[in-house]
Formats: sequence, structure tokens, C-alpha cells
Amino acid sequence: MNLSRRDFMKTSAGAAAAGLVSTAAAKTPEEVVREVKFIDIHAHATEGSFPNIRGRQILSRPEQLLAHYDRLGVEKGVLLGLGNPENFIGGMSTESILRICKTYPGRFIPGCNIDPRACGNDPSVNFGDFIKRYRDLGCRLLGEVVANFPVSDPRLQNLFRGCEEAGIPLTFHMSSHRGFSYGIVDDPGMPQLELSLQRFPKLKIFGHSPAFWSEIGTYETVDERNGYPKGPVKEEGAIPRLMRKYPNLYGDLSAGSGCRALSRDPAYAAKFLTEFQDRIMFGLDICCPTGYVSPLPEFLRNLFLSGSISEAVFRKVARGNQIRLLGLPS
Ligand SMILES: [Zn+2]
Repeated sequence: MNLSRRDFMKTSAGAAAAGLVSTAAAKTPEEVVREVKFIDIHAHATEGSFPNIRGRQILSRPEQLLAHYDRLGVEKGVLLGLGNPENFIGGMSTESILRICKTYPGRFIPGCNIDPRACGNDPSVNFGDFIKRYRDLGCRLLGEVVANFPVSDPRLQNLFRGCEEAGIPLTFHMSSHRGFSYGIVDDPGMPQLELSLQRFPKLKIFGHSPAFWSEIGTYETVDERNGYPKGPVKEEGAIPRLMRKYPNLYGDLSAGSGCRALSRDPAYAAKFLTEFQDRIMFGLDICCPTGYVSPLPEFLRNLFLSGSISEAVFRKVARGNQIRLLGLPS
């Protein structure tokens, strides 16, 4: 803990003035860290019958995910569907997610998903009506959108339109090119995403995945978009540029990509989180229950404990933005 007592009093007073903490008894940073439970903006869980692939359980059952949550200090998570053919056969449907959320009230929030090829592969089909129906059943977010075709494809644009009409945000996974894994495809610098941000100004778009988060800075070769660029951010990339220009672009910090985009340069991370403190959200994206778990909880706690980010920023990224953007009970 590097904050001096004077700095700490200043931080606490500022946060109190912003209505973020009680003025009655300012908490120490250690107490804040113990108190603040994260909300995971990007979660997957499956009902018991989901098939394993080559003997490996590729998605967690709800109780396995909750065991991670309890260990990591996560209060609840938004369940996102993976019904696209790029992912799994018999992946998570919205209906399955709604059943899980009913079984574990207070721990999961439902998201819905629609493959943009659904209903006849027709870019004029009205997805807004379907999404409104899911919204009325409690779904707060649409995703994860992973169809492996260009962002400007009329079927994807049509899904964006339906989401904007229904008034719920959309989470995408981006891929660097067609035929590579899963995810919507954009060019370096994300020009097609920029056009979408212009075309659907009321749609809140949550960006996720290596091809998205590699754009936090510039990179040497386009191949770096498929992985995790390392080292300090020498020059800012498309993400900060687009976020400054378009208030409807948001960041989902889940998985290795979000956490690594910050941890590669903690000094820049603090600057980035502070500037975009109302639009960046904690997330984990835990898939296989025994697989990779992002060290993001520790990373964010340490940024706050070292005085690199304020209490207000820590609280917003950990859970406040999720509550505000999805209309969750606080
Ligand atoms: Zn995911």
C-alpha cells in the first residue's frame, strides 16, 4: 500500500463527495477491497447434459462456476449464450440460460443470444421483436456474438439494429480474419466497427477478445491481433481513439485478452481505466472449469491498493458500471 495518509484522506473525501461511500466512516483501502464484490460481465455455464469434447469438460456447470466466484470474490455473473455453430454443437441456448438463472437467483443474470443467420439467413428479418421478448423475460445483454463474418455483413448489421431497437447492449468476440476460429471479423484499426458505432448510436457495444483488445495500442505485425501483444503501450491504438469519439463503445475485460491488455502496461492501464471509468467492466469468461482463470481480480485490487486508480474507479469497474448499464439491483 503506497498511499500516504494524506492521499488516502483526499481520495476518500472525493469519493464521499461523489456519493460513492458513506461520509460517516471512511473505509481503509483494505476494507474496501474486502467489501467490494465483483460482477462478471461475461460468463458461461451449461446444464448438466452438455457433452464433453475428447474427454474434456469444456463449459462449467453453474455450481462449478459459483465455486470460482466464491473463491475470487465475485457476487454474480451475466450468462451469455454460445449457440452459434462456430462454437459448439448444442451450445447454450437462451432458454437454458433462463432456466439456470431461475435455479440460482441472485447469482446469475440472463443474457440472450441469436445467431445472425437465424430465421432464413435474411438480413431483413426483424430481430428486434425476438430480442424484446427475451428482454421482457429478464435478459439484460445480447451475446456473445461470434458469427465468423465481417462486421459490415448485412446480417450482422441487422442483428445490431434489432438490439438497438430492443434497447439492450451487445457483446461481441472479434476475430482477425474469416476462417480463423470464431468471432466477427474486422480489419486492423476496426473501421467496420467504427461504421457500426456511427450507424447505431443508441446501441451500447461491448468489445471483447484478443483481436479487439490488441487494439489498445499499435502493433508491429497484424499477426499480433490473434494473440496477446506484450510490453508497454508505446502508441495508443484504435480502442482509445474510438472510445473518445463514440460514447457507445464499451470494454469487457474478460478472459486473457482483457486482463493482458491492462497488465502489459500497468501505468497505461491506470490511465486508461481512469479516463474511461464509466465504460469498462470487470469480466472473467471462465469456460472449462479446470482451465484458465484470469488473474484480473488481483490485478485490479492491486492497482487500487497501490494508489494507481481511485476508489471510485475501482468500484465502477468492479461492479458499478455493470449495475448502471444493465439496470441491476445494487
Ligand atoms: Zn465468452
